[in-house]
Amino acid sequence: MKIDVLTLFPEMFAPVLSTSIIGRAIQNGILTINVYNIRDFAKNKHKQVDDYPYGGGHGMILAPQPLFDAIGHVLSGSNGYKSTVILMSPQGKVLNQEVARQLSQESHIVVVCGHYEGIDQRVIDRFVDLEISIGDYILTGGEIPAMVLIDCVARLVPGVLGNPESVKNESFSRGLLEYPQYTRPQEYEGYTVPEVLLSGNHREIERWRMKESLRNTFIKRPDLINEAELSPHEKELLREIRQELGVL
Ligand code: SAM
Repeated sequence: MKIDVLTLFPEMFAPVLSTSIIGRAIQNGILTINVYNIRDFAKNKHKQVDDYPYGGGHGMILAPQPLFDAIGHVLSGSNGYKSTVILMSPQGKVLNQEVARQLSQESHIVVVCGHYEGIDQRVIDRFVDLEISIGDYILTGGEIPAMVLIDCVARLVPGVLGNPESVKNESFSRGLLEYPQYTRPQEYEGYTVPEVLLSGNHREIERWRMKESLRNTFIKRPDLINEAELSPHEKELLREIRQELGVL
């Protein structure tokens, strides 16, 4: 997958893109991520990229020319592949695991990071396929949202995670939260690991994990439980959990 990022602050991306799973995926050639400075595309003498809003008001707006040219430039390098242009925006569709899963199947994504009071609407009208928000709050710029998007999309691209199985049970992958996890030692400061996990009985472990995944979701995110498609066995486990918790 190829990801082109357009930002006024390219330096913010270097540590994230060179570290851990994403850094490795780039080194292995599974991901290609290019970060472009929007200012480099400004044609005016002072490389100014922003201007006052028509109609008055506070703050500055990212002007159309540098963004038209920057997006045009990265689209011209897409070698005929279909490209999806995404604007990071608090007004966009709120990012979740399903949106990330769909985007992980794209071959070329262009991520535009806004700044100041946002970007000129004509850039959106001309180029943007999808606006994505990382939540209902306002950040200073689209850089942190872009890094959030890139991280959660990239780990779903085949080959990026060493063990693709690890994605399967992760929270949200099936609309449920993951079960609790433990590692050595068996006992730490009086806190012990549930017996079943030490039993070697894989059927029982599987059942315990499913039940605790349902319990976690029921307690922490009841909204997800209501949406999840549960098997008859899972419904039975949920009934047990409700009884144990005294919730009818
Ligand atoms: N004036 C804009 C509004 O009210 O919708 C907010 C502009 S914000 C200060 C500047 C930039 O940060 C936005 O253009 C966007 O790229 C990014 N941004 C801020 N909050 C965001 C969020 N929750 N999700 C995604 N991007 C966000």
